[in-house]
Amino acid sequence: MSNQNPSQITSLIASTYSNMRDAFKGFSPRVQQKDMIKRVSGLISKKHIGLIEAPTGTGKSLGYLIPGIISAAMEDRILVISTATASLQDQLAKRDIPNALKAISAAKSEDGATVIGVKVAIAKGRERHVCNVNLNAAASTADLFNETTPEVRSFVETKRLFDRGLWDGTRDTLEVSMPQSQWRKIANNAATCTGRNCSQFKDCPYYMAQEEIKTARVIVTNHDYLLACISNIPNSPLANPDSIYVFDEAHHLPDKIIAAFAQSIQFSAFWDKDMVDLLPWLGEDRELVDLAQERVTGLWRACERSVETMLGDGRQHRFTLGEPPPQFVSLMRDLGGDITGLRDQLDRAKESFRKRETSTRIAGVATLAEMMFGKVLGQINDALACIEDFTSEENRARWLARERFGVEVRTSPFDASGFAKTRLWPVAKNSILTSATLAPLGQFDPVLRSLGLGHGTPTLRLSSPFDYSRAALRVPKMVLDGSDPAHAKRVRAYLGDLISDQKNAGVLVYFTSRQMMQDCYDALEPLVRKSVLLQGDLQTSAIIAEHCNRIDAGARSVIFGLDSFGEGIDLPGKYLTRVVITRLPFAHMDDPITATHGEHLEEKGLNPFTMILLPKAGQKLAQICGRLMRREDDHGDVLVLDKRLVTKRYGRQLVNGTSFTTVQHS
Ligand code: SF4
Repeated sequence: MSNQNPSQITSLIASTYSNMRDAFKGFSPRVQQKDMIKRVSGLISKKHIGLIEAPTGTGKSLGYLIPGIISAAMEDRILVISTATASLQDQLAKRDIPNALKAISAAKSEDGATVIGVKVAIAKGRERHVCNVNLNAAASTADLFNETTPEVRSFVETKRLFDRGLWDGTRDTLEVSMPQSQWRKIANNAATCTGRNCSQFKDCPYYMAQEEIKTARVIVTNHDYLLACISNIPNSPLANPDSIYVFDEAHHLPDKIIAAFAQSIQFSAFWDKDMVDLLPWLGEDRELVDLAQERVTGLWRACERSVETMLGDGRQHRFTLGEPPPQFVSLMRDLGGDITGLRDQLDRAKESFRKRETSTRIAGVATLAEMMFGKVLGQINDALACIEDFTSEENRARWLARERFGVEVRTSPFDASGFAKTRLWPVAKNSILTSATLAPLGQFDPVLRSLGLGHGTPTLRLSSPFDYSRAALRVPKMVLDGSDPAHAKRVRAYLGDLISDQKNAGVLVYFTSRQMMQDCYDALEPLVRKSVLLQGDLQTSAIIAEHCNRIDAGARSVIFGLDSFGEGIDLPGKYLTRVVITRLPFAHMDDPITATHGEHLEEKGLNPFTMILLPKAGQKLAQICGRLMRREDDHGDVLVLDKRLVTKRYGRQLVNGTSFTTVQHS
């Protein structure tokens, strides 16, 4: 299929597009989608990086899938599609890609070329796959102790599904309800995985998925895993400079990059107990390991005491400009030195064990010991990575925190552009970045800047295909400035009246703080409160289902929600005809990463408000407003209970980032 004939690709794309009506029930061609296909084709053929803002309804996924798959097949390249979350990944792989492939495989270019047999693979991080060894061990506690706790029962059920081939072994498709803390007990863990030495290697879901990826034409992954591959596994099929990359939900990319390089040490989670389990395998190295561990313990506790002292009674202590006191840096460096000594001793002990083990091979013993070494060394390496970043000269945010289980040191980059410039774009040289919100204030500059891309990067802002005369953006006359101390009280009163009198069946009320949400909920009349579903009372999916049930039954339903309801929620038609935004969604400057970033900008004479807070608020506002119009015949209004949208100069910029053109202030 290797062929670089551009007219053949264009002809195949045109033929595919004309097949779409048969492949998709209810498909109607949109000018915005055609513009997107054209732009994506151009970026792929020139091997450029480009940004496309594609509002809801433009058919964004097909806009990149059709040209992406056809170009990859015809040019013998790999198409890597990265989404923000693993669940979006599954949605793409199970629904959108099969539909696109159906239309593509029926297409023919003018000279008879076709694209058939396109192989698609899903790539997720290790930790999203089950480890057969861990699952067997967890489920076998039921046989050993005849235990019938809910946890053991769910492990037994998970194993039953897996053994019968009814579950593929990934976290996102598991139908057994399992909290994250429980999932970790059976999940794949790089530190304890023995790889090819494992008796289950051939049936291991993670390694089976890795094999599939090697021969796939289209790889569907998520930002977290892709970033991990690009930074840690240079020969991964996901880190190939010749591939075509599509970053969907690309507005999350800067934060994902920052999160990928954040580090922490939780002082209560010391590996001393795991070290005790390791002792039987240490042989004659035991004495030296013991000595090294003793040194580490002393310094570990000294650092913990220092953190306690600096925190005092507070929950968080941030270092100005991310610069901790030199004495503490020096203490942490000493700790790093001693941990490195311990790691070297353990590496030697592991080697000696391997030599001994080959001469006296006992079934199962080697695997168990390898896992124990891996568990301790994994924790040691994590601590060393954090210490290295915490004590480095690099500009980063650095702070201390007190959590339920004890105190922590934390460090994180505050700016994604450095990594993007030096590590991401040299690999993902040909990338299409797309999202419904990439131009937060009507401009691409903030996103370009945060991703280290130049002003000359091609951008395209598509218009919404929906008729926005059916919708309105309003700021009621009686609301106050969101920074006014009386604002919260006015919102409580306003919401009480609004919900009592409301004619709209489906309403979403977005809050910027949990406290304000709870206060508004508590202030409602008991009878009115019954129509409100409060975030936190149920899982998000259960709230959505209950909301739709109530509306189907002819009742009204109001959702009170925070950030997780401001994005990714799809409630079309009668399920949502009013969105209420209680305050403009400005981030808090007390967040350590934002605050440190702000200080560094101020040092350079730049304004953190215009550089960070305003674009972020614009992006969030556009996402929340985007909840209203989900289908062609949707209608309704967005009420913003914060006067700053009409009184401040930046209000206009914020509106420019949404699909609305005017604000009614009445
Ligand atoms: S190869 Fe690793 S992850 Fe897979 S089953 Fe074996 S130990 Fe677990």
